[in-house]
Amino acid sequence: MTEKIYDVVVIGAGPAGMTAAMYSARSEMKTLLLERGVPGGQMNNTAEIENYPGYGQIMGPELSMKMYEPLADLGVENAYGLVTSIVDNGATKTINTEEEVFETKSIIIATGANHRKLGVPGEEEYGARGVSYCAVCDGAFFRDQDILVVGGGDSAVEEAIFLTRFGKTVTIMHRRDELRAQKIIQERAFANDKIKFIWDSVLEEIKGDERKIESVRYKNVKTGEVTEANFGGLFIYVGLDAVSEFARDLGITDEEGWIITDATMKTSIPGIFAVGDVRQKDFRQITTAVGDGAQAAQEAYKYVEG
Ligand SMILES: Cc1cc2nc3c(=O)[nH]c(=O)nc-3n(C[C@H](O)[C@H](O)[C@H](O)COP(=O)(O)OP(=O)(O)OC[C@H]3O[C@@H](n4cnc5c(N)ncnc54)[C@H](O)[C@@H]3O)c2cc1C
Repeated sequence: MTEKIYDVVVIGAGPAGMTAAMYSARSEMKTLLLERGVPGGQMNNTAEIENYPGYGQIMGPELSMKMYEPLADLGVENAYGLVTSIVDNGATKTINTEEEVFETKSIIIATGANHRKLGVPGEEEYGARGVSYCAVCDGAFFRDQDILVVGGGDSAVEEAIFLTRFGKTVTIMHRRDELRAQKIIQERAFANDKIKFIWDSVLEEIKGDERKIESVRYKNVKTGEVTEANFGGLFIYVGLDAVSEFARDLGITDEEGWIITDATMKTSIPGIFAVGDVRQKDFRQITTAVGDGAQAAQEAYKYVEG
């Protein structure tokens, strides 16, 4: 058990957590940023970010580093660890990771969200052999191949546009007859000669040999027609699941696992706040995550001082 008691422990070093840590440290609170992987969160899986003010167009991993690097000079401590549970003792809270225990007066949960899986045959089997959830990580493996992207939201269409740098063609398969992505992103996709569309269709099976995927089987939801088509790579962007398993026993999540907060990021437990994508909210973006982080740090300061 560590002897230190932190004022704030921020769990998760995505944009929400890094902003919360920055504001906490600037309020002279003893701040720990606890992360299970590399700092940056989903930004590390994002090719180009065009809607974070002040940077024009920037690669996700670069923006991650720009947020992370100043934190040490502000006095933010870092620890590596996967949080497995939180115990509320009232005035203090205990955070258990797989290897360590941390004591703190307040907690800001910023554990974000994970890509949702399709749950179709072949998805697990071809996990590292043609099926991916990260264009910036894996796009270059599919140079000059036909690539399929499943999904119709911002992430799916933006990443499809990015993948045209590598692929011979990039096909977007969507279960409806129109995209959900913002209009500006849609227009860019429609204007790109390399991008094709398969509308009203759902992927049913991923097939291949022992080395890589070769084809997919999909069904038109309007006509029922089943088709098989060849693709060398498959990228899946069909939504998000909250990363909050460690908080389920606290009674602060909704039935889908999103953490419920008020507009100031307070959960129903005094001293425990939640920010960013893990929170029950409508619009999950870097800008909204950053705003949540600043707000929660301010509330944590009032809580600890008060
Ligand atoms: C492909 C893609 C493209 C996107 N493009 C854009 C875009 O162009 N513009 C935009 O604004 N947004 C974009 N987004 C959304 C944006 O990235 C997210 O809204 C944002 O990253 C959410 O930030 P967050 O800090 O809440 O969570 P996350 O970024 O998910 O970070 C959470 C962090 O918590 C850590 N963590 C989780 N569980 C634990 C645990 N138990 N213990 C310790 N650490 C833990 C994770 O490792 C992670 O580092 C995109 C997302 C994706 C996937």
